[in-house]
Amino acid sequence: MTLSSSKALVPFVSVDHMMQLIHRIGVEPMLRGLADYIEADFRRWESFDKTPRVASHSPVGVIELMPISDGEAYGFKYVNGHPKNTREGLQTVTAFGLLADVATGYPVLLTEMTLLTAMRTAATSAMVAKWLAPRQAQCMAMIGNGAQAEFQVLAMKAVCGVQRVRFYDIDPDATEKCARNLVGQGVEVIRCRSREEAIEGAQIITTCTADKQYATILTDNMVGAGVHINAIGGDCPGKTELAPAILHRADIFVEYAPQTRIEGEIQQLASDHPVTEFWEVVCGRAPGRRSEQQITLFDSVGFAIEDFSALRYVRDRLPGTGLFLQLDLLADPDDPRDLFGMLQRAAPAPSAA
Ligand code: NAD
Repeated sequence: MTLSSSKALVPFVSVDHMMQLIHRIGVEPMLRGLADYIEADFRRWESFDKTPRVASHSPVGVIELMPISDGEAYGFKYVNGHPKNTREGLQTVTAFGLLADVATGYPVLLTEMTLLTAMRTAATSAMVAKWLAPRQAQCMAMIGNGAQAEFQVLAMKAVCGVQRVRFYDIDPDATEKCARNLVGQGVEVIRCRSREEAIEGAQIITTCTADKQYATILTDNMVGAGVHINAIGGDCPGKTELAPAILHRADIFVEYAPQTRIEGEIQQLASDHPVTEFWEVVCGRAPGRRSEQQITLFDSVGFAIEDFSALRYVRDRLPGTGLFLQLDLLADPDDPRDLFGMLQRAAPAPSAA
């Protein structure tokens, strides 16, 4: 686990270094690698000490802490969600995170996680779709074309083989941005003028909008038999994307039910409405897709294990890259009990008088 030469220096991955790391590995290979790490951690789900994230709500957004531990490593992410931010030139979602060694409590990695969250959210969506989407799904609808969108598309391409993507956003500039960014990436981009047009012929429907309200991005009559819905944007109390009637027709898969019942689409349902935690599918304890007619829904809100997997992935890829700084984050007194003595290293020199 050690990256630094000194116990007291903590490797720090800046946004600039993360951008370089992603390109050095390659966007799609990294999305596939993250999906593998996340799936591996879902397989050992029961070995994690889990808790719903700690959320601090305000009328305009939410700030959340997402802690988790597997007994050897401890991780947390700080993340916000402020849909109105883009109107002020700020991101809806920003994040950073930390991985620590449980044996000593010392941090071993501090990293930006805005890019890493987009990568891990997309990798999780694609990993789940690999299990639940109709076989050989090649066409996807991408509704909500903001910061997460291209990552979602490239993960579905890299992991599930999606080739055609039908884009829709209430802001056509957002769709144009996606089309521009995806030139030469090996996906056919289809610009659509409505939600209805976007879902035509799509086997996977991703909703990834940001609006702090009970929105209805998909109405009941829009959703035909056999599709897989990857619902990303409803991730907070009072912030959903799907008409409740769809939830009654779908088989619903969630990350961690105690958190999703508060934050996900299923906040619109009775608290005992049956849902399947997705790790049970990965571990063979629950069925995934059972028929061609079934509507499967991944009610994604983002869970701490996915961030933990992403932190592990970055920690494992970092050595030898030089793509980090060593942060002087932890005190290192010569005698562990002599913290005051260490303080004197910075004391001003006594004056001659
Ligand atoms: P963003 O603000 O960059 O993009 C959101 C896009 O949605 C914008 O382009 C906006 O015009 C569009 N939009 C809003 N209302 C719409 C509507 N009715 N129909 C079509 N388009 C609409 O946000 P982002 O960073 O891309 O995040 C998108 C959503 O995903 C947010 O709600 C965020 O909280 C959520 N999110 C979830 C996870 C997760 O793990 N589930 C992770 C990250 C982000």
